[in-house]
Amino acid sequence: MLTSEEIRKEFLDFFRSKGHEIVPSAPIVVKNDPTLMFTNAGMNQFKDYFLGNKKAPYSRAADTQKCLRVSGKHNDLEEVGVDTYHHTMFEMLGNWSFGDYFKKDAIAWSWELLTDVYKLDKDRLYVTIFEGDGKEGLPRDEEAYNEWKKVIAEDRILLGSKKDNFWEMGDTGPCGPCTEIHVDCRPDEERKQVDGKTLVNNDHPQVIEIWNNVFIQFNRMKNGSLESLPARHVDTGMGFERLVRVIQAKTSNYDTDIFSGTIQKVEEITGKKYDYSDSKEAVAFRVLADHIRAISFTTADGQLPSNTGAGYVIRRILRRAVRYYYTYLDYKQPLLHQLVLGLSLQFKYVFPELYQQAEFVTRVIREEEESFLRTLEKGLKKVDDILQTSSLKKIDGKNAFELYDTYGFPIDLTRLIASENNLSVDEDAFTAEMQKQKDRSRAATAIDTEDWVDINKADRTVFVGYTELQSETQVVKYRKVKSKGKEQYQVVLETTPFYAESGGQVGDTGTLVFGEEKVAVTDTKKENDLIIQFIDKLPSDISLPVIASVNTANRLSTTYNHTATHLMHAALREVLGTHVTQKGSLVSPEVLRFDFSHFSKMTDEEIRRVEMIVNEKIRENIPVVIRELPKEEALKLGAMALFGEKYGDTVRVVIADPSYSIELCGGTHVGATGQIGLFTITAESAVAAGVRRIEALTGAGAIRYVNDKLGQIKQAGELLKVKEPIKAIEKLMEDKVALEKKIERLEARQLVGIRNELLKKDEIVNGVTFIGDIIEVDNADALKKLCVDLKTNLNDYLVVLAANIGGKPFVAIGMSETVAAAKDLDAAKIIKEHIAPLIKGGGGGQKLLATAGGQDAAKLGEVVVSVKKLLEA
Ligand code: ATP
Ligand code: MG
Repeated sequence: MLTSEEIRKEFLDFFRSKGHEIVPSAPIVVKNDPTLMFTNAGMNQFKDYFLGNKKAPYSRAADTQKCLRVSGKHNDLEEVGVDTYHHTMFEMLGNWSFGDYFKKDAIAWSWELLTDVYKLDKDRLYVTIFEGDGKEGLPRDEEAYNEWKKVIAEDRILLGSKKDNFWEMGDTGPCGPCTEIHVDCRPDEERKQVDGKTLVNNDHPQVIEIWNNVFIQFNRMKNGSLESLPARHVDTGMGFERLVRVIQAKTSNYDTDIFSGTIQKVEEITGKKYDYSDSKEAVAFRVLADHIRAISFTTADGQLPSNTGAGYVIRRILRRAVRYYYTYLDYKQPLLHQLVLGLSLQFKYVFPELYQQAEFVTRVIREEEESFLRTLEKGLKKVDDILQTSSLKKIDGKNAFELYDTYGFPIDLTRLIASENNLSVDEDAFTAEMQKQKDRSRAATAIDTEDWVDINKADRTVFVGYTELQSETQVVKYRKVKSKGKEQYQVVLETTPFYAESGGQVGDTGTLVFGEEKVAVTDTKKENDLIIQFIDKLPSDISLPVIASVNTANRLSTTYNHTATHLMHAALREVLGTHVTQKGSLVSPEVLRFDFSHFSKMTDEEIRRVEMIVNEKIRENIPVVIRELPKEEALKLGAMALFGEKYGDTVRVVIADPSYSIELCGGTHVGATGQIGLFTITAESAVAAGVRRIEALTGAGAIRYVNDKLGQIKQAGELLKVKEPIKAIEKLMEDKVALEKKIERLEARQLVGIRNELLKKDEIVNGVTFIGDIIEVDNADALKKLCVDLKTNLNDYLVVLAANIGGKPFVAIGMSETVAAAKDLDAAKIIKEHIAPLIKGGGGGQKLLATAGGQDAAKLGEVVVSVKKLLEA
């Protein structure tokens, strides 16, 4: 039987033999694309080629792509584990033609690969083609039909509707008809009884789609119309895990060698057995085996679980997994992180980024699990509270939603707990709350993008900003975008000096001058590889030649910060060790911020050493050399590549002394390090499990910062009238502690005096010893303390003490148990009902001791009288 490794290799070998360039998987976490958080199809990394933004360097390509389908247009999360063929993270095998071959070859090759190479039983295969769509004015895909007819019986070619057989990337963009290949994996007996073709595209767990061949020939416009593309492309995707299952003749993806190792490990850890069934326990096994892959690979690509955006998607997957082992495998400790090492070994040669960071990923996941397990326990307590107080027979929608949103309880868990307690859940109200939240987040992220308006023709757009900060050029196209109620325009220039936000470096700002008219560029971003300038208003004639100028001062400061980031990265590895790798960075004109993997807080000593090294490198005035090299060569030089970053075959290498810092980087850098001037670290903190953050300043910003600090020390010296303020402050602190002790002793003595005076003022009212007085003390606590102290000298008593402290009235009431019982009195009640209204304030306490504070100090006399009256009654 072929192993999964062999099956993957055969796919790539097959398409290599058909003239395809084999390319690496793009990172699973998407950057520079506002429409996608994660890669959800093999074609994502080639979008620019389909859109015509960029010419493909090869006309045929093939790969295996890490995909994640838990957000946006494709979201399979709730199916995963429940069925046996949808995963969160999966590998999509794909082959592409960029304006090269079309339906004929694509169809012939898929058939050849499946039946000749993999030897799948032709008898079990069905294909679907697009039946056409009247509304769109699209005819049936005859071309695909005719190609299929050559290799497969006509009654196995099924017609599919627009929903299944017309593939679209998103609301707008490249699209076209597709043809799918389905496999009937049922036993012969069953196949005889029910015709397989009736089960295609019908959610039958044994009749599944394995491969989709998309023929991209249209562009969907904003108004819904279709435009024919100048070039026609092929985009295919085959689920690797499904393919392996079919070839290894299993009935579930989880029974293949892709997942069996992890399932076995879960069996070892939990002491339970996976029984292949539909039981919740078996689902839990599958959920763990699946989810650990999604969590591990995204973390390795730099997307850690967090509170927002893509990080929150990962957190939700992780929580779903924890909840499954906690509830259905009865395992109450962190489990997932124990699976990382095995997984990393399994994929060591396919996706080495996980193996290289196995320890880091393990730690991140363990801490995340620990913290969620604590939340989960709190959530279960919350459920108990709800069950206690639920007078109705229902858990209401708000509570169910809070459990979901805050404690990560999916509705089926809440439902289960409810039914175990003979309650139900108000599902409609829950759904309504869910919808409200969805609307809120949609409103917050909705971007309304209009079609591009072409202005001037240009074959390609060029970035010249590494060497020039101004260019004379023209607008190629522009479009209007609306998000969060704000309208802006995106502009594409033929030549642009504007650096688009990437690699942590912020986008340039500056101006566009059309004739006499000047328009401010507020930001520059990339969409895939297209550089887009943002402007708030359109010039009166956008077709005019334009002078594009970058804000030079800002760009320079940014550049200092970027080179300093590289110097610091190398220094951190020298001081802390080579486990330090970049986990995030921000390089702006004002600051540099750098997140990196490291497991403990940096000591002051370590921070000083890093600062020293970087400043040394600045003083050495090292020339910064930039080279374009083949990737392999750059890596051989020892260049640091970042995990989760997509690199082409040729890479840009930034070198500040080949023996010190070599990084792959697309950012802008100084000519020589001396330009940076000064480097100073302003903060070191934790951002996530195993990730630290440094913030630092360079150039004029660093000098201002240091001057400011020096100024503060000087000012302190002037205030203290000494040269060395630190010593003087130490002395002051010591003196302060001594003085406080002294005051405490004096106050205690004073209280004893007051108490003795009070004891002389006692009266007997209706058999109760009553003491009521206005006294002089410095704080409200003293009143309370006196009430307590008097207890030791009195038996059946009621005390009311009042004081004016800094113009405000304070009152304390104390009494003995006996008086409270005999006279049916309650100090807290007296405060609430009689005292608080009188002094215009509030307060409370216990039955035998209560206090109040208020606004009207003139009423203190009345306070004493009114309490005494209660005894007289
Ligand atoms: P399905 O209808 O089974 O969800 P799909 O129509 O969403 O599949 P495509 O978007 O065409 O699938 O993706 C191409 C191929 O990727 C599919 O033929 C299938 O083999 C595989 N695939 C899609 N979604 C998943 C998933 N969640 N897990 C594993 N493989 C998948
Ligand atoms: Mg799907």
